Amino acid sequence: MKRFFLIGASGLMLVRISIPLQAASGPSQSPAALQQAWKTPAEKSEYKTTPRYDETMAYLKRMAAAAPKQLKIEVFGATGEGRDLVAVIASKDGVFNPAAVRKAGRPIVLIQNSIHAGEMDGKDSCLALLRDMVITKTQAALLNRAVVVVIPIYNADGHERFGPYNRINQNGPEEMGWRTQSMNLNLNRDYMKADAPETRAFLALWNRWLPDFFVDDHVTDGADYVYDVTYNLDTGPEVYPPLAEWQRETLAPALEESVIRSGHAISPVIFLRDDSDPSRGLSLFPDTPRFSTGYMVLQNRPGMLVEMHMLKDYRTRVTGNYEILRATLEVVNRDADSLVRMNRDADEATIAAGRKSSGNAPVALRLEAVEETALVPYEGIGYNRSLSVVSGGIWLKYSTTPMPVSLPKSTGLRITKSVTPPFAYIVPAQWGSVISVLEAHGIKMRRTSAPWRGEVETYRCEGVKWQEQSFEGRQVLFVPIEAKSGEASQGACRSVRERLSFPKGSAVVPLDQRAARVAIHFLEPEAPDSAVAWGFFNAVFEQKEYGEAYVLEKLSREMMDKDPKLAEEFAQKVAADKAFAADPTARLDFFYRRSPWWDSHLGLYPVGRLSSLEGIPLAP
Ligand SMILES: [Zn+2]
Repeated sequence: MKRFFLIGASGLMLVRISIPLQAASGPSQSPAALQQAWKTPAEKSEYKTTPRYDETMAYLKRMAAAAPKQLKIEVFGATGEGRDLVAVIASKDGVFNPAAVRKAGRPIVLIQNSIHAGEMDGKDSCLALLRDMVITKTQAALLNRAVVVVIPIYNADGHERFGPYNRINQNGPEEMGWRTQSMNLNLNRDYMKADAPETRAFLALWNRWLPDFFVDDHVTDGADYVYDVTYNLDTGPEVYPPLAEWQRETLAPALEESVIRSGHAISPVIFLRDDSDPSRGLSLFPDTPRFSTGYMVLQNRPGMLVEMHMLKDYRTRVTGNYEILRATLEVVNRDADSLVRMNRDADEATIAAGRKSSGNAPVALRLEAVEETALVPYEGIGYNRSLSVVSGGIWLKYSTTPMPVSLPKSTGLRITKSVTPPFAYIVPAQWGSVISVLEAHGIKMRRTSAPWRGEVETYRCEGVKWQEQSFEGRQVLFVPIEAKSGEASQGACRSVRERLSFPKGSAVVPLDQRAARVAIHFLEPEAPDSAVAWGFFNAVFEQKEYGEAYVLEKLSREMMDKDPKLAEEFAQKVAADKAFAADPTARLDFFYRRSPWWDSHLGLYPVGRLSSLEGIPLAP
C-alpha cells in the first residue's frame, strides 16, 4: 500500500515521490522492516549500480520528508553546468544552525563524497548511513553529540558524465561518473587556488559550518592487496600536537579495531615505493594543501582520507566505507568534548602566534618522508614479475592468493622548508584575483584607505622556470608540481627589503586569525601551493622592455670606460664561463642589468611582509 506526497523541489518544479505508508508510520516498525522499505538504490540493485544525481536527490528528499526533525537538505552552491550542490544535515533534535550547534559544544562532522565522481562508494554508504541514523535508527546514537553534514555528490557535473568506461582500474558498479568537473579540473587539486565554482561553494560551506572533523571518500588506484578499507590521517609535525596525538593514538586504533570487528580488512593508505616491485616497501606522501585533507591541516582541523580498494566488489566497498564512517562517528561522539576543545585550542594558538610582531615560531611549508624505515606487516597479494613482450618492461602480475609479509615503511615525515611569518601581509589592490582567493578562504582583511608607500620585506626571484606542461589549466612555476619526494628544487626567491607603493584598496592580511596558515601558504612564494607556484604572478617574471643590440654595444663601452673594475669583472666572466662567452645576448645583458635602464621590478614579488601596521592608512 502506498500513499503519495508532494514535496517542493527547486524552482517551480514539483516532484511526486512515493513513500511506502509503513515506512513513515512510526516506531512500531522493526529496523529490519524499515531497512527493507528504505533500501538505498545501490542496495536495491544488489550493488550492481549506483544512482544518478536525480535519483540520489529523490532518495534524500524522501528521507528528509519522512524525518524532517532530523534531516535537512541545503543547497550550498551551483556547479559550472548549473546543478545544485547539495549538503544533507543530520541532527538528532532538529538543530540545523551551525552557530547553535557550536554554541552547544557539539562536534560538526563533514563527510564529502564523489569529489572524484567515478569513486562513488562514499555516496552510497552515506545514503545507507543517513537512513540508519534517522529512519531505521539502528545508528541513531551516532547523532547523540555529533551533527553530521554530508555532501552526497560534490563533483555533480562529473557525476553526470556517466558511463561504463570511466574507471579502467575499478571493479564496479556497472556505470559511474568521471574524475574531473565540467572544465576538466580535478577538484582535489583545487583547495588552495580555488579556480572552480565548486571549490568556491565548498569554501563558503566550510566557513559557514567550520566542521570539527572532515572526511573525504575516494576509491584507490595503485597496488593490489587484501585490505578493502584504507585511510589516512595527517599526524605530521605541521599538525597541532594534541590533534595529531589524538588521531594517531586514539582515533586510528579505535577505528581499525572497529572496522576489523565488522568483518572488513583495514590499513593506512598504501603507497608502494616502486609500483613494479612491491618488495621494495612502502612510502609516505605529505598531503599538500591542494588536497582536501592537506588543506584541513591549515584550517586546524583533523581530516581523514578514505580510499576504498578499487579491485574489491562494489558491495564490499560500500559496506566497508559505511563501517569506517560509523567507527569514526562513534569515536567523535565519544570524544566530542575533547575534540571540540582541541580544535578551539588549535585556533587560539594560531591567533595568539599571529598577535606577536616578532619572535614568531616558523611555519612548516614543505615536508617529506624521512629516510628511516621500520618493518610493518603488509597483507599483500602474491605476484609474479617477468619481462613483458608488450611493454618491454617489467610485467607485474598479481595472483589471487593472499601473501602476508613484512615490508619496510618510512617512519614519518619531516619538515624540509619553513618560514617565519610576518606580522601581516599587504597585497596591492591590482592583484584582485589573489585577494579574491583569500576572501574565498574566509581570510579577514582590511583595505587601505589611501595610497601608501613604505619599506616592506619581500622576495626577489631570479632564474624562475615554468613547468613545460600546463597543470590543472595553469602554467605552474618553480615546483615540479606533483613532485616526488626530494625532487622539488626551489630557492630562486631571496628575501629583500624594498620601498614599494600600494594603492588605495590594497589588502592588509593580519595573521591573528584562525586560518592564518592558509594565508601564509598562499602568500609565501616557496610554499607548494602558493599563488606564485600556481602562476597567479607569472607576469611579474616576464621581461617587458628590451635594449637593441647596437644600443647596448654603445652602452657597454661607455660603462667599461667609466668603471675599469666592471670591465675586469666582464673579462673574467668571459674567460671563466664558456656558455656566457658564446652567448652574445648574455654578454650585452651583463651591462644592461647593471645599468639604470634595467627594470627594477622584474622578478620583484609585489606582496609585502609587514612587521607592524604603523603608518598604514587603514579603512575602518
Ligand atoms: Zn579519488
